[in-house]
Amino acid sequence: MTDTLIKVDLTQAATDNEQVHNRWHPDIPMACWVNPGDDFILETYDWTGGAIKNDDDASDVRDVDLSTVHYLSGPVGVKGAQPGDLLIVELLDIGAKQDMLWGFNGFFSKNNGGGFLTDHFPSAQKSIWDFEGMFTKSRHIPGVRFAGLIHPGLIGCLPDHKMLAEWNKREQALIDTNPTRVPPLANPPFASTAHMGKMKGEARDLAAATGARTVPPREHGGNCDIKDLSRGSKIFFPVYVDGAGLSVGDLHFSQGDGEITFCGAIEMAGWVHMKVELIKGGMAKYGIKNPIFKPSPIVPTYNNYLIFEGISVDDEGKQHYLDVNLAYKQACLNAINYLTKFGYSPAQGYSLLGSAPVQGHISGVVDIPNACATLWLPTDIFEFDINPSASGPTKFLNGSIDLPIAYDK
Ligand code: ZN
Repeated sequence: MTDTLIKVDLTQAATDNEQVHNRWHPDIPMACWVNPGDDFILETYDWTGGAIKNDDDASDVRDVDLSTVHYLSGPVGVKGAQPGDLLIVELLDIGAKQDMLWGFNGFFSKNNGGGFLTDHFPSAQKSIWDFEGMFTKSRHIPGVRFAGLIHPGLIGCLPDHKMLAEWNKREQALIDTNPTRVPPLANPPFASTAHMGKMKGEARDLAAATGARTVPPREHGGNCDIKDLSRGSKIFFPVYVDGAGLSVGDLHFSQGDGEITFCGAIEMAGWVHMKVELIKGGMAKYGIKNPIFKPSPIVPTYNNYLIFEGISVDDEGKQHYLDVNLAYKQACLNAINYLTKFGYSPAQGYSLLGSAPVQGHISGVVDIPNACATLWLPTDIFEFDINPSASGPTKFLNGSIDLPIAYDK
């Protein structure tokens, strides 16, 4: 039987679990040790540690304390791992916790986190998704059902002291360019809500003062939110500290490319069954700076898409130069506008693009002055015909159901 090396109790506060942490720092003690070749299971909280409830009230999303995220299980020490090695992590299987067979998607208030389209959706909203084995559907977004593409939003190894100092320096320099911006440009270390695993007392306080926040992806991987990093994939991580220190969390039942809604994909608590191996000196041998991975041999097959184009011209009609971020925003807004013709609210459309297995592609980045990004909406997830036709769109919904909303106090 495979050992479960880290267990989480969803009725217990994540901060009471010493095998969980919410900052990156090289001094966080290993939660457990394994040998190369071992396979084992780690349980995880959802990324907020249970802050979002299965109800029809979005005030929990509005009021969430974002300095507490993400709750990660680990670090797992791998015997013999040394700086410069590559840690191979095979994701053998991933699932939801049996006592939490549901997940959430939401958008933060613009004043507390925001999101990709926060200027269009400035208030906190959420949708709840129920799991039926490998499928999911939501009472807040009728008319869709799809297979999960389960993956960890966040997985990576501990940085060393030098790398941590570089992260903090470069991110602070960005913050300094506009320190009062809402939402902020980046999040500096914040000691008071840092949970440093087993660390206590003075050592904890010292590390908490510089522990990097877990929101951005960085050289070690971290919060990459890659939907294709699904069960069955194999990842090659750079190792920076003795023992590597692998941590994982922020499990997603499903996600659209970009995780545009930011209060997650379909966020869930769950477990990851994984196997580790080492390539000694692999970073130099393969010229690796950021992780690389091989995808799963098993993915949901959606062959039919409606593809929405977007270009780098903003809502006011102003021309921007090859701005891929803006082009993808426009592709998303075009898809949301299309979905409203079938009776969905704009919020339902936005939530769906963050949750369902939609693909985002960078299509053109050289055709001055416009970048072109495309959003691929799988048509087979809908229980009705979403394709354009001469007879026009049939309204599937009558508008009686929408996402719960919580306005700022
Ligand atoms: Zn997430």
